Order: sequence, then C-alpha cells, then structure tokens
Amino acid sequence: MPEKMRPLQSQRGGSVNRQDAVEAVRLLLTAVGEDPTRHGLVRTPERVADLFLDLFAGIGVDAAAALGTPVALTDNDQPGELVALTDIPFHSVCEHHLLPFQGSVDVYYAPERHIAGLSRIAAVVDVAARRPQLQERLGQEIADAIMTVLRPHAVSVRVEASHGCVTQLEPQAASARAVTVASVGSMPAAAWQLAAGVRATPRSS
Ligand SMILES: [Zn+2]
Repeated sequence: MPEKMRPLQSQRGGSVNRQDAVEAVRLLLTAVGEDPTRHGLVRTPERVADLFLDLFAGIGVDAAAALGTPVALTDNDQPGELVALTDIPFHSVCEHHLLPFQGSVDVYYAPERHIAGLSRIAAVVDVAARRPQLQERLGQEIADAIMTVLRPHAVSVRVEASHGCVTQLEPQAASARAVTVASVGSMPAAAWQLAAGVRATPRSS
C-alpha cells in the first residue's frame, strides 16, 4: 500500500477490516466460477483488498479538514477576484459499478476574508475522491468543503472524467468524457470573466 495513504486511513479509526475484504474477494472469485487456489489467483484477494482500501481511504474522513487552518487576510492583503487551481488529477471509483473513473478537477473561488494553501485544495480533492463516488457529488463535496472553511463569495468546481463503466461497458462511447460543474454562492461577474479566461488558456497536454 502506498505510504502516502497511511495518514488518511488512520483517520478512519477501527473501521477497516482488511481480512474481511480479502475474504470477500476470495468469495467473489468463487462465486463467478473461478478457483481462488489456482496459482495465478493465490495472492489476488490480498492485492485487490489492499487496492480498494487505498482507493477508499477517504471513507469517513472529513474533506473540509484537509484544508487545514485557513489563512486570514488583513485589510492590506489583496487577494484578487479569483483564485483558481486547475488540472488537479484524481482517480475515484463509481459507486454503481465499483469501476474506476479518473480525470481532473478545476477549482475556482472568489475569496472574501480567507484563503488556503493551494496544495491543501488538491488534498481536499484527493480525500473526496477516495470513496465510492458519483462525479456530480464529488464536485459538490469539494465545493461544500471550500465554502465551509474559507467562506468565499463563491466557489465553482469543474470535474472532467472518463468512466470505466462507460468506456469499457459501452464500446461506442470509449472516448466519452463527462463534465460536471458544482457551484456554491454567487460568483462576482469579474471573477466569472477571469474563470472563463483561465478555461480559454490552451493546456500543455
Ligand atoms: Zn458506474
């Protein structure tokens, strides 16, 4: 299991039962007609269990807490109309099929009295993604976390993702990408214009 996920898992307390997860994968293999004792599958239940414990390390973890302590602005600070962090990569698991979906998140907020470290915003995305998720709810949870902690005028979160349950189960939609936008608060017009400008900037990839 990747070392970087340990802190997330420890926040869940005693709710993780690796042995049950291993046994569940073994049962699934048996249920679909496989022999979990055959050579190629012997360690598969442990691998899959560890993979899912990593993918689900955000269960029960407060995404807002990942923002840490917000930085309070003074009257001399000039936060500007818009803070944007774009192309934040994520991977998650759709809760309807337990298949992966992955893509990138763009976060825009119009600060009022508080800002957060940019790496903290990426941490919120990571926590919110590491659960059985829906793309629509992922964006909303990120927006709500930022609104709760930073109290900006407004926050808008754009998620663009490729879903395994679409690209693998629907061959004609193999290149389809889903785009969702979740917004909280009312974005000042000037900030929206800036956000549109950020989106219009050609990306390197
Ligand atoms: Zn799905």
